[in-house]
Amino acid sequence: MVILDARNIVKVYGGSSGEGATKALDGVSLSINKGEFVAIMGPSGSGKTTLLNVLSGIDQPTSGEVSISGEEISEMSGDQLALFRRKQLGFVFQEFNLLDSLTVKENIILPMVLEKKTAADMDTKVHGLANLFEIDSILDKYPYNISGGQQQRTAVSRALVNDPAMIFADEPTGNLDSKSSAVIMECFEKIVDELSTTVLLVTHDVFAASYCHKVVFIKDGMIYSSIVKKGSRKEF
Ligand code: ADP
Ligand code: ADP
Repeated sequence: MVILDARNIVKVYGGSSGEGATKALDGVSLSINKGEFVAIMGPSGSGKTTLLNVLSGIDQPTSGEVSISGEEISEMSGDQLALFRRKQLGFVFQEFNLLDSLTVKENIILPMVLEKKTAADMDTKVHGLANLFEIDSILDKYPYNISGGQQQRTAVSRALVNDPAMIFADEPTGNLDSKSSAVIMECFEKIVDELSTTVLLVTHDVFAASYCHKVVFIKDGMIYSSIVKKGSRKEF
């Protein structure tokens, strides 16, 4: 079942034509199935972040259409899009983006607080995720007292609390050493395998991409090839 469908996406920064305009995406079409684990790779400046932002409704395309779970997000107003993102999508960033004034647990449940979920629901959810990602022992700590890998596992938990249809991650291992990168990629692998979540990430990191089912290569704003892996990573 197709969960994300993008057709002929063009994104131009700095006006639609003329001097100073940058065509960051030049006719990208892409389809992702539910439960797929996809990496977008490409050189710096190739349009990876722009593509992730357009596919996830953070940014609007100059032209082209994007639908997620059958809803045309490219036709939504800013408010509709913000609501859709909050309810349906989860985000993970290179810089973790945790709030330093909140504990790990408070960071994780923040999206549930915004959705006015019950305290009992929040408790069940946070303990389930903390157990899955082995962060039970740090729930009452603050982000500045835990490692980068633990911060990113907190961010992945936060991205998952409202049971999103899809997770989008921009360079999720970009600030991590290779051991923590492996742990984070195993977390994504777990949510794909055990929760059937769909994950799309952008990365420079070949090791991170090796966990994905499919790798899409982008250059100069165009997809120039993609590879689909047969079997699981563990079979190599
Ligand atoms: P990548 O993530 O692959 O490094 P980006 O999507 O960040 O690539 O950028 C693609 C191109 O678009 C680059 O030429 C970049 O300089 C340009 N670009 C990205 N964001 C903006 C912006 N907000 N305004 C103008 N140009 C931008
Ligand atoms: P990444 O490599 O992760 O895509 P960049 O350093 O390319 O990060 O971009 C960081 C931020 O700067 C992004 O928000 C992007 O949209 C913006 N940006 C990138 N290139 C330009 C540009 N030429 N003009 C204006 N903003 C830009």
